[in-house]
Amino acid sequence: MHQKPDADAMGSSLGLFHFLEQLGHSVTVISPTNWAEWLKWMPACFGVIDYEYSTEKGNIALDQAEWLFCLDFNTLSRTRSMASKLKKLNCVKILIDHHQQPESESFTYGVSNTDKSSTSEMIYDFIVEAGYKDRINKDIAACLYAGVMSDTGSFRFPGCSAAVHRMVADLKDTGLNHTKIHENLFDNFLENRLRFMGYVLQYRMDIFYEHNAALISIPWKDLVRYEIKTGDTEGLVNYPLSIKGIKMAALIIDRDEEVKCSFRSKGDFDVNSFARKYFEGGGHYNAAGGRSNDTLERTVQRFITAMKENSSQLQ
Ligand code: 5GP
Ligand code: MN
Repeated sequence: MHQKPDADAMGSSLGLFHFLEQLGHSVTVISPTNWAEWLKWMPACFGVIDYEYSTEKGNIALDQAEWLFCLDFNTLSRTRSMASKLKKLNCVKILIDHHQQPESESFTYGVSNTDKSSTSEMIYDFIVEAGYKDRINKDIAACLYAGVMSDTGSFRFPGCSAAVHRMVADLKDTGLNHTKIHENLFDNFLENRLRFMGYVLQYRMDIFYEHNAALISIPWKDLVRYEIKTGDTEGLVNYPLSIKGIKMAALIIDRDEEVKCSFRSKGDFDVNSFARKYFEGGGHYNAAGGRSNDTLERTVQRFITAMKENSSQLQ
């Protein structure tokens, strides 16, 4: 899975893990970095290796691997410090992903299908098309449901097809408790995170009505003051899109080691291209991310220049 995994990266990986284990395979799940507290309820999440923290353990598993499934990313750089190790591995590398512009030469074979809502949906298809639908148990269902729900914005984004709803119906038939999963993902934070959100929305958000765009920029000192942890800023970038007329929202955070950018849009503004062109990033048409080695202030200035350059597409 990709670094700082979200519910789709973790859910698709653990969903596949539970399936392959049933078939008698020996499976190890590795995340390039740590992950949010609110993912830790997922069945078997406790066994996932944090590569940054347990690099040796990760390398041993990788050296023994016959097959490597690469889920929810399509360029090795998304695995941060794992990328050089993955590049050197000689095993079969299978890509299952739904982002744009795959780095095909890095994988033996696979699929990168932007028509799919989520990698979790693709793991469901993989299991069903392999003829093992009857193997989808409650654990697999919980992992895949979390992934698909999260990547479709709780079933509201355009990529949420009829097939997604049919899949969810099948997952429900396993006895899945969807209410519990929503609570695990959305009602599982500490007070400081909500106070932080209030502070940020009050003091760190700028709205550019003439460009139908909004920006939230957060200095490192805010993260320290509110004791913000991995995953606490997830979803924040969506808030400005709730303002009538806003078509693009950006979140720029000084994470100390780098400045991380998130972009979201509504309708026909392509943030994948935007993130690629200006911020060494990528992602989906309406949700993408990137990064910068500049200071927060300079990154914000670059964003404002880029936004103005794209103003006509934002009208
Ligand atoms: P987020 O803003 O939640 O970090 O990411 C939004 C989407 O863009 C996700 O699908 C994520 O995988 C992708 N993404 C985020 N950051 C990067 C990046 O630096 N490079 C690329 N290629 N994709 C990214
Ligand atoms: Mn995904």
